[in-house]
Amino acid sequence: MSHHDERTFVMAKPDAVQRGLIGEIVSRLEERGLKLVGAKFMQIDEDLAHEHYGEHEDKPFFDGLVEFITSGPVMAMVWEGADATRQVRQMMGATDPAEAAPGTIRGDYGLDLGHNIIHGSDNEDPGANEREIELFFDDEELVDYERADAEWVY
Ligand code: ADP
Ligand code: MG
Repeated sequence: MSHHDERTFVMAKPDAVQRGLIGEIVSRLEERGLKLVGAKFMQIDEDLAHEHYGEHEDKPFFDGLVEFITSGPVMAMVWEGADATRQVRQMMGATDPAEAAPGTIRGDYGLDLGHNIIHGSDNEDPGANEREIELFFDDEELVDYERADAEWVY
C-alpha cells in the first residue's frame, strides 16, 4: 500500500555539509519527485543526539556517533511522497558505504560507517518517521503546498 502524503525525516550529516553535498542530496530527492515540506540548518546538541540515536545507546559506536553528529552543522529536512520513508532509504543505500550500491547517495559519496553522509528514518521501524519529525520540527515549521508538477510526481 502506498501513502502519497507519507512524511519522512532526512538529515544531511556533518560530513555532507562540510563536503558541500547539501545541494546534491536535495537535488536527488527533488528530482525523484519527493516534496520538501520542512528544512532547518542547525547544530545538534548532546541531548538531541542522545534522543535521536537512543536505540543505539548500548552499541560500541554510540559515543563516536554522538561526537560526529554534534561535530558541525546538519541540514534537517522533512520530505513527503508515496512511501517516502522507503523511497529515501532506497536512495540512501546500505548503512555501510562500502556495501552501498553505486547510484545510491551513500554508494556515491559515503566514506565509511562513521561518515555515511545522510540519515533517513528507518522504514522497518513503524512510527520512526513521525517520531523523528516531531523531535526535530514543530508543526508550524512544516509547510503544506502542492508542487506544480504534482500530477507527475509522488
Ligand atoms: P542507518 O543510518 O542506515 O539507519 P543504523 O540506524 O544502524 O543505520 O545506525 C545509525 C548510524 O550509526 C549509521 O548511519 C552510522 O553512521 C552509525 N553506525 C552504525 N553502525 C556502525 C558501526 N558498526 N560503526 C560505526 N558507526 C556505525
Ligand atoms: Mg537507523
